[in-house]
Amino acid sequence: MSVTATAPSKSAVKPVRMFVGGEFVDSKSTRRGPVYNPSIGEQIAECPFCTAAEVDAAVKNAHAAFPAWRDTPVVERARVMFRLVTLLEKNAESIARLISLEHGKTHEESVGSVRRGIEMVEYACSIPTLTMGDTMHNIAVDVDCETYFHPLGVCVGITPFNFPFMVPLWMAPIAITCGNTFVLKPSEKVPLSAMRLAELFAEAGLPPGVFNVVHGDKEAVDALLTHPHVQAVSFVGSTPIAKYIYETSIKHGKRCQANGGAKNHILVLPDADMDKAVGALQASAFGCSGQRCMAGSLAVAIGSAGDPLVEKLSATAAKLKVGRTDIGSDAQMGPVVTKQHLDSLLTNIDKGVKEGAKLARDGRGVKVPDAPNGFYLGPTVFDHVAPQMHVSQAELFGPVLSVTRAASLDEAIELTNKSPYGNGAVIYTRDGHAAREFKHRAGAGMIGVNVGVPAPMAMFPFTGVKGSFFGDLHIQGKEGIMFYTQQRMILSRWHPDSHAGEFVTTRG
Ligand code: NAD
Repeated sequence: MSVTATAPSKSAVKPVRMFVGGEFVDSKSTRRGPVYNPSIGEQIAECPFCTAAEVDAAVKNAHAAFPAWRDTPVVERARVMFRLVTLLEKNAESIARLISLEHGKTHEESVGSVRRGIEMVEYACSIPTLTMGDTMHNIAVDVDCETYFHPLGVCVGITPFNFPFMVPLWMAPIAITCGNTFVLKPSEKVPLSAMRLAELFAEAGLPPGVFNVVHGDKEAVDALLTHPHVQAVSFVGSTPIAKYIYETSIKHGKRCQANGGAKNHILVLPDADMDKAVGALQASAFGCSGQRCMAGSLAVAIGSAGDPLVEKLSATAAKLKVGRTDIGSDAQMGPVVTKQHLDSLLTNIDKGVKEGAKLARDGRGVKVPDAPNGFYLGPTVFDHVAPQMHVSQAELFGPVLSVTRAASLDEAIELTNKSPYGNGAVIYTRDGHAAREFKHRAGAGMIGVNVGVPAPMAMFPFTGVKGSFFGDLHIQGKEGIMFYTQQRMILSRWHPDSHAGEFVTTRG
């Protein structure tokens, strides 16, 4: 889903800069892509697609900054994050406005994403405790054993458009407090939030070269994946690109953790509190205009739950106010990120109709009178979606909810297991045994029981499986720390007679 590169525009839109070696610098690349305000469909900036030589310069800066940063006491590294938390708290409102401007989230959604990002930085503040190794005295006669966590070197983050501020914070604070240096390549569709993060890192006192930002598409990404100084690659984005990033990184001897796309199933049993289930489904499917990797995009109505669920859902979806999010407004749902993405959603809705799914609520043609050129799609609900249909299988990544019917819990669990994706799966029920069966058998890495979006907090890993994750160690939690460090084990033997002779001790 990358934006097509165009020749540099002659309009007044500002080119986005890179952040390299502690300086904001212009890219000389002749390839650039537009950055939009999706609420009104106007271009607001121009993102350079950095050349391989520019990427090389950024990595070399990060590489040069590594020895001094690695040797900076861990408590001092953590102190930068304490200062960053304060700055993030102070600037949360303006950061949220920037996210809404370039991405289209409502203000509340943007504030929520900044808060989730702050939680990652708070977690990184505990790095001195989190990276303490193990020790054991006298594991053999006169032998002690200890482990240490050492940083790796230059780490890279490649991030998607849908959480422009939060996803970089899933990666950089942990990588950096572990003693690594970092190069971020944010989505070319939403590069402004990442540049704000660079400003705040600098203001928090992070030394030059420890955090860097380059921009671009495949050329810049390939230059990162193949660079001899890069040790580890963290990726979040769609499944085909995640697979490519993982395979290329591994081939070039890097560690890699690559989060992919999703089609999250939300099961509703007839005994569920239907109002709560509908509220959660609506928030999960239409929050952030459906552009979340944890969005519940496929509801599985079990037994008699189907008709009341679809009826209530269609009625509440019709009441959601869709509108501009770039200015203070009472909109409950904003636009999608680009016209290209809107067009792909419309094509997918047509496909669903042709395949025979029933449109219970059609969000096409939604009108936002003060923004006729914005990229809007109203909440859309498909009913009677068969498992083999495209709208059941594919990640559409927009405000389109498919409802499929299953005769039993077993059949519904089987559907989650057959999905090529495995990020989240949720059950709504009052039946403890059904919930227990589901939580141990459903084919996803993050399970919700009466929770619409089971996204873990910073101290727990983001445990996608199947096509939703490629790698061994997930982002966040202890796995995130293991990913950004190398454990070193030391065995030492000191015999009583191994001293130089002057300071003899006698064992009592
Ligand atoms: P994307 O895969 O198009 O882009 C992600 C990143 O990869 C961007 O930085 C982009 O510039 C880069 N990229 C794109 N094409 C490339 C190519 N051919 N070669 C090298 N790099 C390339 O994803 P997106 O549209 O920005 O984001 C939406 C996707 O991200 C959805 O599939 C969503 O589910 C997924 N996502 C997953 C998670 C998760 O944790 N599993 C979280 C957020 C988003």
